[in-house]
Amino acid sequence: MTVRPMVNRDSQFFWDGTRAGELRIQRCNACGARRFPPGPACQSCDAYDRGYDVAAGTGTVFSYVVHRHPPVPGKELPIVIALIDLDEGVRMVGEVVDVSDEEIEIGMPLRVDFNRIDDELTLPVWRRAEEMP
Ligand SMILES: [Zn+2]
Repeated sequence: MTVRPMVNRDSQFFWDGTRAGELRIQRCNACGARRFPPGPACQSCDAYDRGYDVAAGTGTVFSYVVHRHPPVPGKELPIVIALIDLDEGVRMVGEVVDVSDEEIEIGMPLRVDFNRIDDELTLPVWRRAEEMP
């Protein structure tokens, strides 16, 4: 069993994106401001004209929490959850895999990967990125 995220009109594009292997960031078509989490109206200009950009899928750890308790269905604990600063300038929450709770650190470069759960749902996960040369 997997904890399924809420998919609604505001976030549908995001989940369509992960299914297609894309990390999409909502962008206002009126003023170009990017935002996360997605919402109906632009926080900069109040327009309802929504579009999106496809992110490069790279970012760095802004902060993180290690989830040890309570148990999460279908998950082995601990889970590392990070706030990730994307290179595009938005911050999103994501699960970091293949990095232990002892290794994770602020500023660590990460790269998104996609974990296909089923036909409907693909979850973004984050892995350690190679250091930039
Ligand atoms: Zn706007």
